[in-house]
Amino acid sequence: MRFLEAHIHLANLRHNYQYLKGLHGNKVLAVIKANAYGHGAVQCAKALSDLADGFAVAAIEEALTLRSAGITLPIVLLEGVFEASEYELIEQHDLWPVVQNQNQLDGLLAYEAKKPLTVWLKMDSGMHRAGFFPQDYVKAFAQLQAAPQVAKVIKMTHFARADEPEQLMTAQQIAAFDSVVTDDKIEESMANSAGILAHPDSHRDWGRAGLALYGLSPMAYPDANLKPVMTLKTKVFGVRELPIGEVIGYGSIFKTERMTRVGLIAVGYADGYPRLASNDSPVMIDGKPSRIIGRVSMDMTMVDLNDDAQGIGSEVELWGEHVSANTVAAVAGTISYEILCNVKRARFVYHD
Ligand SMILES: *Cc1c(COP(=O)(O)O)cnc(C)c1O
Repeated sequence: MRFLEAHIHLANLRHNYQYLKGLHGNKVLAVIKANAYGHGAVQCAKALSDLADGFAVAAIEEALTLRSAGITLPIVLLEGVFEASEYELIEQHDLWPVVQNQNQLDGLLAYEAKKPLTVWLKMDSGMHRAGFFPQDYVKAFAQLQAAPQVAKVIKMTHFARADEPEQLMTAQQIAAFDSVVTDDKIEESMANSAGILAHPDSHRDWGRAGLALYGLSPMAYPDANLKPVMTLKTKVFGVRELPIGEVIGYGSIFKTERMTRVGLIAVGYADGYPRLASNDSPVMIDGKPSRIIGRVSMDMTMVDLNDDAQGIGSEVELWGEHVSANTVAAVAGTISYEILCNVKRARFVYHD
């Protein structure tokens, strides 16, 4: 069998949740959208079900998968509804929709609920992706609060640059958020992972932890308290020795500078390993640092076996405990969010 395994360490997930909740100091949603950033939403939700204050997913499909798996904690739908007909399922399954535009608001106000819903009303405090502008937020909030369909409205917004603490934008977004609807009794939510890690003034009543929950910091610097949840690994299944001056792989982008033992490993861009992380990207082979040589291809990649003890069967960590997914992402010109979500074709192995 092709050896490509994503090992998911659920104890690290629990550790990270507790660490982030401790930093935040109040309630924290575990954000498990996009199949828990590629880690497996049902398994992650179950592992957190006795710790988390609730979960957040992108849309109703993801929430229904969790409810079918027996998850009973609150679930926020971060994108809200796509069609007004979803409000009925939302009520039936006790979900908490975000309302982020007039269309979603009108649909909710026209819906006849048997039991009033908890709704998260999103403000556009400056990111300009979704939400009501502060000046329109006041009216939308009042309409929801007065609506018989609504039991409770939670005030929320989302940051555009909280991972860049030197930027003033987060402070400006917080000021915009605090400029309207200022009743102390209203619960608030602003902080994503970067907000929890770097902006204590954004903590409020509910944090929303995504990336950091999986053990990776969204900041430019690492956080030693976060433990990576996923280790992606494969094995060497072919070895060849090449003399000096030989090229390898598509495009011949690597040329040997010494007698080189080249290991062939079972991972490629069809598995979600980024093709842009070719030549010189870090890997660990049997616990020793090495590198990819040549171009990552669809199913296979080559590594530099710079230790004579390495050969067929040697284990190669692509990212995880020793090689940070943040480093691989940086080499590929992207972010660890994207490469974690992209893992495919691997066998997932869950550890408690
Ligand atoms: C994805 C998402 C989060 C989590 O962001 P991280 O940077 O992964 O912590 C929080 N809030 C909203 C609205 C999101 O869409």
